[in-house]
Amino acid sequence: MNNIVAIVGRPNVGKSTFFNRLIQRREAIVDSVSGVTRDRNYGKSEWNGKEFSVIDTGGYIKGSDDIFEAEIRKQVELAIDEADAIIFVVDVEEGITPMDDEVAKLLRKVTKPVLLVVNKVDNAMRTNDALEFYNLGLGEYFAISGMTGSGTGELLDELVNVL
Ligand code: GDP
Ligand code: MG
Repeated sequence: MNNIVAIVGRPNVGKSTFFNRLIQRREAIVDSVSGVTRDRNYGKSEWNGKEFSVIDTGGYIKGSDDIFEAEIRKQVELAIDEADAIIFVVDVEEGITPMDDEVAKLLRKVTKPVLLVVNKVDNAMRTNDALEFYNLGLGEYFAISGMTGSGTGELLDELVNVL
């Protein structure tokens, strides 16, 4: 399959909200790695005439912070292996968490395109708050609201450019 986009990040940052906004139809893909499929949703999307598949990761992660961390790490490593581009979502309401730093550390080594998305930027005040995410060391970011759709056009323009 070509043009696979993986959405990664810790729980509650808004990955699934953005995924649901993005996809036109869900796909049931049987994954050869058992135990992985149930943790991930697949969908198809299209922007500016370019089709791509989207993987929403971490759907059913439950448990302690330790389990979160191991699971998220696994999902990020899978995404790095399989995806053609990675969307790393963080949450402006929460700011940078230690887990965000962990994920950023993994993603800084990746040669594939990584798009940093600061989500929940629902209003102008939060545009300023988003600036702290430069500290993740991943460069420029896209400030979006998965809830309202604000900023998602620019993000998708760039996404299909790098695919
Ligand atoms: P996931 O765990 O990363 O998949 O996050 P979800 O998509 O399930 O969202 C977690 C929570 O954040 C839910 O209560 C969403 O309604 C909320 N949320 C998602 N996107 C936004 C957004 O752009 N703005 C605000 N204010 N809340 C959001
Ligand atoms: Mg989710």
